[in-house]
Amino acid sequence: MKNPVRVLAFLMLCLCGVLSAPAGAAPLLDAPDRVARGDAFLVLASSPQPVQRFVFSWGGKDYAADAYQEGEQWQAVILLGMPLEEKQAARTLTVRGGTESASARIAVFDRKRPVQKLTVDRKYVSPPADVMARIREDRRKVARALAIYSSRRSWTVPFVRPVEGGISSQYGLRRVFNGQPRGFHKGLDLRSPEGTPIKACADGVVTLADNLYFSGNAVYLDHGLGVVTAYLHMSKILVRPGESVRRGQVVGLVGATGRVTGPHLHLSLFAQGQSVDILPLLEKVEKR
Ligand SMILES: [Zn+2]
Repeated sequence: MKNPVRVLAFLMLCLCGVLSAPAGAAPLLDAPDRVARGDAFLVLASSPQPVQRFVFSWGGKDYAADAYQEGEQWQAVILLGMPLEEKQAARTLTVRGGTESASARIAVFDRKRPVQKLTVDRKYVSPPADVMARIREDRRKVARALAIYSSRRSWTVPFVRPVEGGISSQYGLRRVFNGQPRGFHKGLDLRSPEGTPIKACADGVVTLADNLYFSGNAVYLDHGLGVVTAYLHMSKILVRPGESVRRGQVVGLVGATGRVTGPHLHLSLFAQGQSVDILPLLEKVEKR
């Protein structure tokens, strides 16, 4: 410790240790060290002192979560997302509980995202001019559904698997429609015959139930803390906007409406407006 800079750094470390020492004053933050672009991850905040709510700062925004008591601890669990298009190599997550806060640095990495080539009706690759206004209005409706935030959590993981069918298309595939690149596949496609009942992944409220140009008959459910699931291409919608649904309740029937190559369920998960992969959070299917 002859180097004065190192001595200073050592003293500062000691000082920081002393300052954060008051037992249990700062909340504890349990989060993964690294998360892949496009993945969701669970974060647990806890405090030995009574806290009404925790506020998580992620991607430049604050998300409040009501705390609940678990033994001697006050806790909150939130599901956050690492954007598929995240440019940074690491992100900082901060949680505040009462007057204290704690932070974690989360490294970002990439999964392999294969290319998938599909052929669909021309009108879905180069939409006719007269539907452009409708497509813009659809985007506004979806944006409104995704902007809803409540500090109460109604979801639990794993999520109910809405239909039993296998996977026909993974989340995050880079898609090429009729030879033209069209970004990532932001959902999970589950194989299922037309008319199959689709179950809600978790308790929630219907925030959008409408026919959209690309998505066909679509239902969006808000599950609290910014967690939203969406069910697309239905043949029939069986719920109405504003309606509360229970985990496992049927919200519609599998179909082939919108931009599709055949009947299937396109299932999407959003965390605070970010599209993320739902597959790791779904119930495992029993092989029969
Ligand atoms: Zn899909």
